Amino acid sequence: MIDLRSDTVTKPTSEMRQAAYDAAVGDDVYNEDPTILELEALAADKLGKEAAMFVPSGTQGNQIAVLTHCVSGQEIILEAESHIYFYEGAAIAAFAGVQPRTISGTRGEMDPLTVRASIREDDIHQPDTGLICLENTHNRSGGTAVSLENMQEIFALSREESIPVHLDGARLFNASIATGIDVKEYAAYTDSVQFCLSKGLGAPVGSVIAGSANFIKKGRKWRKRLGGGMRQAGIIAAPGLIALRTMVDRLAEDHQNAKLLASGLQEMAGLAVENNVDTNIVLVNTNEAGYTANQFIEMLKAEGVLAVPFGPTVVRFTTHFDVSTKQIEVVLGKINRLVK
Ligand SMILES: *Cc1c(COP(=O)(O)O)cnc(C)c1O
Repeated sequence: MIDLRSDTVTKPTSEMRQAAYDAAVGDDVYNEDPTILELEALAADKLGKEAAMFVPSGTQGNQIAVLTHCVSGQEIILEAESHIYFYEGAAIAAFAGVQPRTISGTRGEMDPLTVRASIREDDIHQPDTGLICLENTHNRSGGTAVSLENMQEIFALSREESIPVHLDGARLFNASIATGIDVKEYAAYTDSVQFCLSKGLGAPVGSVIAGSANFIKKGRKWRKRLGGGMRQAGIIAAPGLIALRTMVDRLAEDHQNAKLLASGLQEMAGLAVENNVDTNIVLVNTNEAGYTANQFIEMLKAEGVLAVPFGPTVVRFTTHFDVSTKQIEVVLGKINRLVK
């Protein structure tokens, strides 16, 4: 099987497995796991934030951010197709007790003027706006790199309104590699950032959230409440350290493979690439070829290729460490035969 469903399917390298085996560990709930402490310090340094915290998943990282920044009864502003709104089981409502105020973006970017206009007034009828969430790269837009200018503009208005900004940077390193802009630069226009070790960076488990020392201190309590306080978690942080140290620059290969896939698919009858392929995601509309997304995916599966539906006639392919350029060429050959 050539698995292009997600970059989450990457398996840990033998170096990562060895590091897990050899990891120095302690009880992380007591802040005594040296490997966790090392990972958190490295992540904070890379993002230019005071502190960082290892969490089991990106979803938990985002939810801890919402819980830490907000109180129940507030409203949060976020993009209408953002992961936090679309794919986290309404956790913001279930746990934080906040309601979403969604804004439809362009390529994942919310218009700063619309963000400003969506901030609530001081009025007993209205909820208070508690948080603005950004996402970079923006998954449902097809892994688009949200521009630094857009982040700067939203951050500037957030300062005027005294509202914190959280960045869901599950694939922030992809954005950075695609644009050449340091993750620190992106993170400078946020109060908190979540990024995933378990996607393109190839680690088996985990995400990191980063922010001020005070934010992380409060966040630790939320992580514990959510059951995310792990004990000798250095076992899983050790592969994460390798991910962060050695797997960032190679994301460029995934991006090249995605571009190769997109340009090949674009030339095939009935297939239309829907997104700007900035990073490692390709969205293909199969409508003109006469297939629903599910039909197309079933045909691909029979050929040994896995992808996921991203709408009634849209299929998402994601490139990653475990798929080579040769395999992308094989996939193109198979799809070409199918649509002919
Ligand atoms: C994958 C993803 C997450 C969540 O990460 P999990 O580790 O799967 O919980 C959050 N945001 C975005 C944009 C993602 O792509």
